[in-house]
Amino acid sequence: VEVLKSRVKADLAREAQLPLIHTLPIEHMLQAHLDTLDPESEDAEAENAFYVADLGEVYRQHLRWKALLPRIEPFFAMKCNPDPMVMRLLASLGTGFDCASKNEILSVLEMGVDPSRIIYANPCKQNSFVKYAYNNNVRMMTFDNAEELHKIKRFHPNAQLVLRILTDDSKSLCKLGLKFGAPLNTTGFLLATAQELGLDVIGVSFHVGSGCFDANAFGEAVIRARRVFDQAKDYGFDFKFLDVGGGFPSAHVTEGITFEKVAAILGSTVDALFGPEVRVIAEPGRYYVGSAFTLATQVIARRTISRDPAELMSMEQNENPTHMYYINDGMYGSFNCIMFDHQICEPKVLLKDGGFTYQQPLISEPHGLASVWGPTCDSIDCISSKARLPLMETGDWFYFENMGAYTITAASQFNGFRKSEILYTTTEQNVSLHF
Ligand code: PLP
Repeated sequence: VEVLKSRVKADLAREAQLPLIHTLPIEHMLQAHLDTLDPESEDAEAENAFYVADLGEVYRQHLRWKALLPRIEPFFAMKCNPDPMVMRLLASLGTGFDCASKNEILSVLEMGVDPSRIIYANPCKQNSFVKYAYNNNVRMMTFDNAEELHKIKRFHPNAQLVLRILTDDSKSLCKLGLKFGAPLNTTGFLLATAQELGLDVIGVSFHVGSGCFDANAFGEAVIRARRVFDQAKDYGFDFKFLDVGGGFPSAHVTEGITFEKVAAILGSTVDALFGPEVRVIAEPGRYYVGSAFTLATQVIARRTISRDPAELMSMEQNENPTHMYYINDGMYGSFNCIMFDHQICEPKVLLKDGGFTYQQPLISEPHGLASVWGPTCDSIDCISSKARLPLMETGDWFYFENMGAYTITAASQFNGFRKSEILYTTTEQNVSLHF
């Protein structure tokens, strides 16, 4: 029976044209792919940068969520990484989805996910997208201003509205409050407007900011949400829905904020302030995928900075980079996270002089300061201005860990460079049952 089942699965995968999911550790995936490369080949594809995505890590993060925040339903913020395999896995695990546009909604519906598992969590929506949500029975959506209420009245009068409030985002890398969120001195007016228009406001949402580094921000935001729940009664609403947004740390963040700390504060504050009749959801993005993607890039060119020979003598002590390495993914591709997501990306040596060095720091080799650049012709395309590295040659490889969040999703093909391809593996056996 098991053999038949696996055959049926393999047939279905072929039919759906799903990429192959390996079951190798990341290290072996990286090595196996590098082994297939022929340095003499004229095939540009062969030397492209590539990701290894570990779907097992996404799965583990889901189990961790369920264990630590059992009351809060995760709606994956797909903007963070709408990778089709990640999306399929999460859909099969039963998460909901936070969508920000018509195309995001479309891709979730195309997977066969019920519209009730979608929240259209963009407080400022385009008319036609609201109509699209109406026609496709996507009812939950956020708002934070009165104009949006009039728009929704016109195009989606039976929407289930969620009032996004402003919270303190000063402890976050990406301060979303600059753009979204109703200050608490405006929520009365917004609720009155919704009441006049006969719209159904079901609850409150917030976002503490993406890349939050203070777990207390979640607890404080829940307290604010409670105030708006109470206020809503004066306008005839009986709220039964709380959306605690995103901002949950990725698994590789182990100092300062951790998911455990957030879960302890958030879970207990929610339980203390909201009875079981209130449905609670969240919109985690980076939490699910941040640590699941590793990127491998090739050194495609190297420039030695000409200097006074005496200065170059002591490579170890030199404070100025002695070499510039150019790699085949950059700021206009996966490393847009440096600009948009305030990330620091650390190159590590993956292949040097033909030797595979994943997670084996080359301690015995002299290290010098170097800068690392992307492949485009723009000088902003810098990945690291000062990295301490051994001497690398053209054709050697770097790898970058924790590249799953806000990377490939916003990558462009500026200057004609292709987006890096993705190879899939799973370090958890159960994952293959979900495809
Ligand atoms: N929800 C909304 C409305 C967002 O704008 C974002 C990110 O910008 C997220 C959720 C996901 O945030 P994070 O990846 O920090 O969890």
